[in-house]
Amino acid sequence: NVGSIQLILGPMFSGKTTELLRRTRRFVHAGSNCLVIKFKADTRYSEDEAATHDGVTHTARSASVLAELGSDWEAFDVISIDEAQFFPDAVEFAEAAASAGKTVLVCGLDADFRRRPFGRILELVPVAEHVHKLTAVCATCGDDASFTMRVTRDETVEVIGGWEAYRPACRGCFRAPEAAE
Ligand code: ADP
Ligand code: MG
Ligand code: ZN
Repeated sequence: NVGSIQLILGPMFSGKTTELLRRTRRFVHAGSNCLVIKFKADTRYSEDEAATHDGVTHTARSASVLAELGSDWEAFDVISIDEAQFFPDAVEFAEAAASAGKTVLVCGLDADFRRRPFGRILELVPVAEHVHKLTAVCATCGDDASFTMRVTRDETVEVIGGWEAYRPACRGCFRAPEAAE
């Protein structure tokens, strides 16, 4: 029984969680046992549900580190991980689960608001069977947006927020924050 890793990348509002849950639901219809995992500190919607920006939800386990799950994942056929950029052990976890025959669906931000690699998520690219980068709609001009722009002055990388703090931007409209480091 051979597993695989399917990676879904893109900026905020590009439909990553929508696509993750869409693929997950197809497996549910096919009779697979599915586990959705969300990042614990992301309580924008709820502790025990993964949610899209337009309110689609799915029951989820929350964790700060995937190793927290122990061997609980072994009982499932499909493991879906939302906001994978926040999990320090997403690469090791996805590899172990896929090698154990699981279908591992992973989504997350490829870049932070400076368009730098977000966490270790890009390390999943060479070990994934499938990689897809989605686009949002640019909040300024309406073109396809591949980047996330922060519209507040906060300098920390991990600020979990929504439309009040981040906007999708195309190449022409993206503005990097003033360098401060
Ligand atoms: P992600 O997980 O990538 O942040 P979601 O799947 O949670 O994205 O949300 C995608 C939804 O966000 C879209 O279906 C749409 O209804 C809504 N949305 C709001 N603003 C935008 C935008 N500027 N571009 C694209 N989708 C947007
Ligand atoms: Mg999302
Ligand atoms: Zn634009």
